[in-house]
Amino acid sequence: MNFDEYAKAAARTSSPFSDIVNGALGLAGEAGEVAELVKKHKYHGQDIDLDALAKEMGDVLWYLAEICNQSGLSLDAIASGNIAKLRERHPGKFDPSYHDAVDVLAGYEWDGSRFISDDASAVYAAAYSGLWVVWHTDGNTRISWGTETGDWGKRCAEAALRAHLEGKQCS
Ligand SMILES: [Mg+2]
Repeated sequence: MNFDEYAKAAARTSSPFSDIVNGALGLAGEAGEVAELVKKHKYHGQDIDLDALAKEMGDVLWYLAEICNQSGLSLDAIASGNIAKLRERHPGKFDPSYHDAVDVLAGYEWDGSRFISDDASAVYAAAYSGLWVVWHTDGNTRISWGTETGDWGKRCAEAALRAHLEGKQCS
């Protein structure tokens, strides 16, 4: 299914009274539901419910499609246009060899709560972000992000670590 096929299917469930304002307000509401799930995980100690998160992200997609349907824009063209913009802004990352060349996590192992590396040079760079807990144990460096653990913590830590090692600032 491409994006335009999705938008066409989603339009079947649109109200005849819907308009672009309904689309925009609904998008904000559903984005809020995504934020609420993550907020409850981060600040209320609840497990992240990835199924619920996926469903709310689907609702976000529905309202994006609704705005397209109400405005005549193509969701497919929007997706393609966004990638074209990113390709122009970050041409090196669209080089086919990019992922092989920047497999920056290759030297790290996930121990269930943090990444561990014995590469001291990578460690010192990581400490500059200020967002991560970094310490040395038995010659290894342990890097984690916040207090997240488990699969969600691994995803957060991996994203933060990869971003940092690729030279971006995490904020
Ligand atoms: Mg929803």
